[in-house]
Amino acid sequence: MLAARHPWLQITLVEAPDIPTIGVGEGTWPTMRETLAAIGIPETEFLMECDASFKQGSRFDCWVSGAEGDSYYHPFSLPPAGQMRDLLAAWAAQDGNQPFAAAMTAQAAVSAAQLAPRQRAMPDYAGALNYAYHLDAGKFAALLARHATQRLGVRRLAAKVVAVRGAEGGDIAALELDDGSSVAADLFVDCSGQAALLIDGHCGAEWIDRSGVSFNDRALVVQVPTPPDSAVASVTIGTAHEAGWLWDIALPTRRGIGCVYSARHMVDERAEQVLRDYVQRAVPGSDAAALTPRLLKFRTGHRARFWQGNCVAIGLSAGFIEPLEASAIVMIELSLRALADALPMSRSAMEVHAGRFNECFRYRWERIVEFLKLHYVLSQRSEPYWLAQRAPETIPQRLAENLRLWAEQPPAPRDFPDFEEIFPAASQQYVLYGMTGSPQGAPSAASAPVAARLAEVHERARTMLAGLPGNRTYLGALAPAHEERRMA
Ligand SMILES: Cc1cc2nc3c(=O)[nH]c(=O)nc-3n(C[C@H](O)[C@H](O)[C@H](O)COP(=O)(O)OP(=O)(O)OC[C@H]3O[C@@H](n4cnc5c(N)ncnc54)[C@H](O)[C@@H]3O)c2cc1C
Repeated sequence: MLAARHPWLQITLVEAPDIPTIGVGEGTWPTMRETLAAIGIPETEFLMECDASFKQGSRFDCWVSGAEGDSYYHPFSLPPAGQMRDLLAAWAAQDGNQPFAAAMTAQAAVSAAQLAPRQRAMPDYAGALNYAYHLDAGKFAALLARHATQRLGVRRLAAKVVAVRGAEGGDIAALELDDGSSVAADLFVDCSGQAALLIDGHCGAEWIDRSGVSFNDRALVVQVPTPPDSAVASVTIGTAHEAGWLWDIALPTRRGIGCVYSARHMVDERAEQVLRDYVQRAVPGSDAAALTPRLLKFRTGHRARFWQGNCVAIGLSAGFIEPLEASAIVMIELSLRALADALPMSRSAMEVHAGRFNECFRYRWERIVEFLKLHYVLSQRSEPYWLAQRAPETIPQRLAENLRLWAEQPPAPRDFPDFEEIFPAASQQYVLYGMTGSPQGAPSAASAPVAARLAEVHERARTMLAGLPGNRTYLGALAPAHEERRMA
């Protein structure tokens, strides 16, 4: 992103060949389309090289009561324009028990039918509906590295950072590498993952622990191969279990499945059993007993300051909260966007840039922590883990205040005033009304124009169901054209 936006910059990427990337992070946010377009990767190339598929939101199973059929949807497309109070009244006035998301957007029907959000003839990154991707994290990292070095002029050194040479005032002067060389620079971006070599190791930036709000700190991960003709889901499926939840992400060739849990509430052996039971149930023809899950442990929290001196932390070095709602990669994209938009041209203005960056990203981390907690606070499950999640002392104050407000009025844009909110009012509405199933805070009567807007949603869904290709059909048709281009 930095090289694409500022071609005059001299950028060196140092990456240890024997320290693998974390290898997870398969669910993205719609910002990814703008990111890929900005850095100049054609959409078909991205889809094919990363074994990627379309993501149109997240479906949450068993989060409310845990009973059969307990399911709601957080789509990426917005509800119709207009006051949410009026839309809620129109929703309540509809016949039957239509789920909130299905009443508000055609995306619910399109996703349920496993259709693609776009036609092939559309320009790259344009869609009939808002969408993101599921991808193979290892292949994506490799594509970005190839693209950066071969097309954007980034220098890549396969070497390990063994020491950091300091400069005056706590800045970093250079990195010492294991081949005996060193790399000096004006600005350092710490992308070293959980190692946080620069922001922690050199700068000692304070870590703010959020495990008192967000309990999950482990994931057991497997990748299950699927047959070439199997269905490709349009959503990340998140299924709650007794002490956490499982993610299920469908790529064209495999399903990435992970059991996320809290080590305080579940032992690893039980989590493994929960994972195997899910795979056996959810992936037809799989042999769950033969899988070897990978255990990942993570620390929940974030830095107090992400930019300190001449070092900016981006990625896991800046922080991590469990992967519910896939907020990590979008934070990387937004950090890069902020850095590229306001790149310091001299050392003298750097403190100002750092101050603004830190303020902006502290706000974003706070909102992420609250939004993820909303999913737990609204649950009615009764296992000890779920009761602990609802204990008042674990609920951030602003979220508790929002819940009081939302008992009498819907989540509104004024509650989320940042210009690039990751989870705007619409996201809060999808979770709130998806989980409660009730239009609290709505007037009793729906106006005719608003009712007509919901009827339009229904009509749009009908048209799209008839006109959009299936995910498997769309992705299958890309291969020959991509292969031809690659060979040319
Ligand atoms: C269980 C789990 C599930 C997740 N799921 C999602 C998801 O669905 N969606 C999402 O948005 N995010 C998700 N994430 C987060 C996502 O994986 C990360 O945000 C993303 O992969 C970026 O990681 P990173 O580059 O910061 O760190 P890493 O991938 O760990 O990369 C660190 C890099 O630093 C290099 N390095 C380390 N030490 C040295 C050294 N001494 N010298 C030189 N190089 C060094 C390594 O070689 C490596 O290349 C998930 C995370 C976890 C733990």
